[in-house]
Amino acid sequence: MKDFGYVAAPDVATAVREIRPGAKFLGGGTNLVDLMREGIEAPDTVIDISGLPLTGVEELPDGGLRIGALVRNSDLAAHPVVRSRYPVLAQAVLMGASGQLRNMATVGGNLLQRTRCPYFYDGTLPCNKREPGSGCAAIGGFNRMHAILGTSESCIATHPSDMCVALAALDATVEVESVRGTRRIPLSGFHRLPGDTPHVETTLEPDELVTAVELPADPVAALSRYRKVRDRASYAFALVSVAAALRVHDGRVEAVRLALGGVAAKPWRAVEAERVLTGAPATEEEFRRAADAELGQAVPQSQNGFKIELAKRTITATLRRLAAEGSAA
Ligand SMILES: Cc1cc2nc3c(=O)[nH]c(=O)nc-3n(C[C@H](O)[C@H](O)[C@H](O)COP(=O)(O)OP(=O)(O)OC[C@H]3O[C@@H](n4cnc5c(N)ncnc54)[C@H](O)[C@@H]3O)c2cc1C
Ligand code: SF4
Repeated sequence: MKDFGYVAAPDVATAVREIRPGAKFLGGGTNLVDLMREGIEAPDTVIDISGLPLTGVEELPDGGLRIGALVRNSDLAAHPVVRSRYPVLAQAVLMGASGQLRNMATVGGNLLQRTRCPYFYDGTLPCNKREPGSGCAAIGGFNRMHAILGTSESCIATHPSDMCVALAALDATVEVESVRGTRRIPLSGFHRLPGDTPHVETTLEPDELVTAVELPADPVAALSRYRKVRDRASYAFALVSVAAALRVHDGRVEAVRLALGGVAAKPWRAVEAERVLTGAPATEEEFRRAADAELGQAVPQSQNGFKIELAKRTITATLRRLAAEGSAA
């Protein structure tokens, strides 16, 4: 690991003043330290933000929830308001990583964790994300885990977070701070698709600190669920995941929120499926029709065509279960 300077930021103002090209914020360190060990990230200075007072989860006057950027993943999943009003978020966080990692990992770090594409971590092979212009070893290589939606000829990596898929379904907003002041970014516009600049992964400026994530009040979210399909029952990234919330009235879908993970470089809000479902009968046939519509845009690689049918079945099964739970309530 390259030598680097270390600053423990005592407050937000110091943290945003100290950040400059070549410096990186350190939250829980569970991703950044690994990337530094591998030589993929080589900051001149690490600004330790773990002592900042951004660890609160507060209910907002309008019924929403404000989650500090340094709330640990395990504390977020255990929070009673998250568990009762946004169960999809608690479930998604609990299905990520391991207990030890969740005890360290923060909300801000989870948003900004980098892809798990194996070629990104292998400095001997081409990777446009690690080294712009070098090529993409995953296209035509080992790409079973890779994206089927929103890909480009430059990069087919997925975003690895589970938490972000739930945040996408819940219409979260990210609050960020810099020397220029405070800015709010809808989660749907926070992560970027690769295009021809896959190394630019978010719309966050390099000098901006994530300070909080806000969830709007949403009664639909109380009946919500996260389903993650992976190669083993724990400690594995998603092949496909679904975050969904559903409200059915008189046998018809009154409201639906749907997002997919493991399929794109960003948490994928299933806008097309939501459009098909809203007002439609809450039946298995309609759930499948919506899934077909969403996945109609999918472009498989040599080894990951199975993800298309897997995503359709996971969407259908998750909505079927929510519909059954709703009618039993
Ligand atoms: C073995 C393993 C398995 C895992 N499995 C899963 C999984 O199944 N699902 C899943 O979702 N995740 C998984 N993870 C990822 C884990 O969730 C992330 O490592 C973690 O969320 C990162 O949080 P952190 O606070 O440790 O981030 P850090 O490592 O501290 O930071 C990550 C990045 O975010 C930046 N950053 C951190 N905080 C801020 C902030 N407030 N503002 C601006 N920039 C910031 C850092 O500069 C860095 O670039 C796994 C990790 C490991 C190591
Ligand atoms: S998919 Fe993206 S991260 Fe993976 S090798 Fe290609 S460019 Fe790199």
